Amino acid sequence: MKINKSIGCTVNECKYHAKDDSFCSLDHINVVKHSNRATSQEATDCGSFEAE
Ligand code: SF4
Repeated sequence: MKINKSIGCTVNECKYHAKDDSFCSLDHINVVKHSNRATSQEATDCGSFEAE
């Protein structure tokens, strides 16, 4: 599996996770927010996540 070392990620439940390494395998991801104005880290997320 390809590893993108520019995108570190610990979400190993995602089908794009590199598993043995804490990285994403996609060329790019879409980061999203959950409200009109993000005011904390928890208000943001990976919009490219897909469950295995
Ligand atoms: S798509 Fe998002 S959640 Fe999934 S491995 Fe990549 S960065 Fe992590």
